[in-house]
Amino acid sequence: MRFARLFQTCLLLALLCHAAAARADAPRAPAAPATQAPGETFSLQLAANGSPAQDAESGTVQFIGTATVIIRFQGFTILTDPNFLHKGEHVHLGYGLTSERRTNPAIRFEELPPIDLVVLSHFHGDHFDQKVQERLNRATPIVTTKEGGERLKRLGFTRIFGLSTWDRLDVARGESRLRVTATPGRHGPAGVAVLLPKVMGAVLDFGANAAAPDYRMYISGDTLVYDDIRAIPQRFPDIDLALLHLGGTRILGVVKVTMDGKDGVRMMQVVRPKKTVPIHYNDYDVFKSPLEDFAREVRAAGLEKDVVYLAHGETYSFSRVQR
Ligand SMILES: [Zn+2]
Repeated sequence: MRFARLFQTCLLLALLCHAAAARADAPRAPAAPATQAPGETFSLQLAANGSPAQDAESGTVQFIGTATVIIRFQGFTILTDPNFLHKGEHVHLGYGLTSERRTNPAIRFEELPPIDLVVLSHFHGDHFDQKVQERLNRATPIVTTKEGGERLKRLGFTRIFGLSTWDRLDVARGESRLRVTATPGRHGPAGVAVLLPKVMGAVLDFGANAAAPDYRMYISGDTLVYDDIRAIPQRFPDIDLALLHLGGTRILGVVKVTMDGKDGVRMMQVVRPKKTVPIHYNDYDVFKSPLEDFAREVRAAGLEKDVVYLAHGETYSFSRVQR
């Protein structure tokens, strides 16, 4: 026990030194605009499922818990950051650190509908837990970071798309089209993030014309709001819905590695989505900024009408957008 505490203290000191060093080393001149990186395109053809896409005009986002949502639109069923542990179970966050779940998922893993694609922001226990690692069908297509993709391949998953920032995955089924683009994300202050898994956000463009999509969704991933985030609305204006990973997660109770309530509002002001759904806000004991922090900041900024609050299990419905 004493050794564990000593180890954690050393780790905390290492994290803080690393962050301070990175700040001191930070270049003063702005980096080349992230908007100019071209990105590579990958493609995924899904087998026709026999039924015409009945949901061409309207779709749903069901919040399951943590950063897990089920998105249904235009014949696609997409699962994000699958986490199906229950209250009292623990996840591993690396370096011997664990966190206890405080909520239950709205459905059990066994109750999932057939999934066309998993969008995984990063390979961390609260986003792809040990039970999902064991039970998820190895042929399930998963789009994630390059680093996360390598971990998944080692676990035996066979349809992995590992993306760098601005890479795209074009998904087709019959007449339906979906483009997933990896967007910048950084899991903590510059120096600390290098010690944590690489993170990507994602923009989902539904419809045949990705430049004028039928619906455009942004999923932040576990990130702070930093300079590169500004490139997202430059490349992807008119985001219809943003799913923001909040929680103000703190490692060892000190180092903030996900957005808190205030950061969530800043993110809304940078990305300017028409609607925002906060997720990843109360599920683990490392989440230190409750949803009320965000709600208070939203009220202070006069943004109430732009936010939709979903409890675990609740569903947000949306309609195709004419541009
Ligand atoms: Zn997380």
